[in-house]
Amino acid sequence: MIPWHSRLASLPHPLPPPPRLPNLPSFRPRATLLSRVFRVPSGRFHRQQRPYGSGAVRALDAAQAFDYESRASEELEQRARLKIAIVGFGNFGQFLARTFAAQGHAILAYSRSDHSAAAGSLGAAFFRDPHDLCEQHPDVVLLCTSILSAEAVLRSLPFQRLRRSTLFVDVLSVKEFPKNLLLHILPPDFDILCTHPMFGPESGKHGWAGLPFVYDMVRIGESEDRADRCRRFLDIFAREGCRMVEMSCAEHDENAAEIQFLTHTVGRILAKLDLKSAPINTKGYETLLKLVENTCSDSFDLYNGLFMYNKNSTELLERLELAFDSLKKELFGRLHDILRKQLFESPNGSTAPVAKDN
Ligand code: NAP
Repeated sequence: MIPWHSRLASLPHPLPPPPRLPNLPSFRPRATLLSRVFRVPSGRFHRQQRPYGSGAVRALDAAQAFDYESRASEELEQRARLKIAIVGFGNFGQFLARTFAAQGHAILAYSRSDHSAAAGSLGAAFFRDPHDLCEQHPDVVLLCTSILSAEAVLRSLPFQRLRRSTLFVDVLSVKEFPKNLLLHILPPDFDILCTHPMFGPESGKHGWAGLPFVYDMVRIGESEDRADRCRRFLDIFAREGCRMVEMSCAEHDENAAEIQFLTHTVGRILAKLDLKSAPINTKGYETLLKLVENTCSDSFDLYNGLFMYNKNSTELLERLELAFDSLKKELFGRLHDILRKQLFESPNGSTAPVAKDN
């Protein structure tokens, strides 16, 4: 069987150039793309090569080509657009929705709390009932709820109202847990893409360029349409300049324990010290203050999820404790050496114990 990544890589690219980043190398020149998708000879787009009889015919012909081209372009853009249902429209769901909407995708939002105002401001439809949401037949269902609530939320969705080929994507900050959950709970016809955008509303507030996006195509159906839809979803992040990293969910969790759980733990320990800014702040200290801000702006549920649902986190916490103890031992060891010297060395340099007056 051909691996998913090879299959996706070999597919022709279906998207038109994005309005905000028109020179991305992954997008084909428009005429070539249109002619391939709509199966018209490429010469149709090179008007200067065509034999024209008179000025009148030239004008008419140019208009037809223009109409055709603009209609084809519209159709193409329509095809490239995804209907994305975001399940869990909290902090991170809304953050992602802003970029999805800016790229022209249709957003449907569903959440436990009423986020209809936030959805409305993005031009997204907000649903209070999961049946109504699923009856809209989204192309993609994006699971964006807290790690702790993911199983209950997933089980509450009426899968029978969705199209059988629906693509399920999750963005949970741990990866083995949702992968097993989706494989276990979803009907076998649904596609599964596990992802982790390794940035958030704070670190990604000035754009996503260069930020890592991890993904694992866990189960994508054989048809070209399904592979194409999966790639169109991944393209949302590629277009924004994310560093796309294909990685297994297990490997992600091994790495993330250090990269993510450690960062959040240190940020939360520092927060407990209630650090204050001062006129003599050093660069290093400023970094610590920033770390507290970055990590504590996420919910405690998120942090708790990183611990509870990544088996590597417990070991990391133990290593952190050992490292702290070992550092303390080193410091106190040196202090004891100095004290011992003071206690046992005589003033004239001999090592004979000095008699102490009581
Ligand atoms: P979060 O606290 O992890 O999740 C908040 C979301 O979960 C809200 O949509 C909330 O719904 C929903 N939720 C919480 N408890 C629920 C329950 N018992 N029943 C139903 N829904 C419940 O914060 P977040 O930052 O928005 O993260 C969302 C997901 O994105 C998480 O899985 C997280 O790991 C992942 N993620 C976050 C970041 C980040 O930087 N924040 C980055 C990458 C990935 P209501 O708002 O409707 O109450």
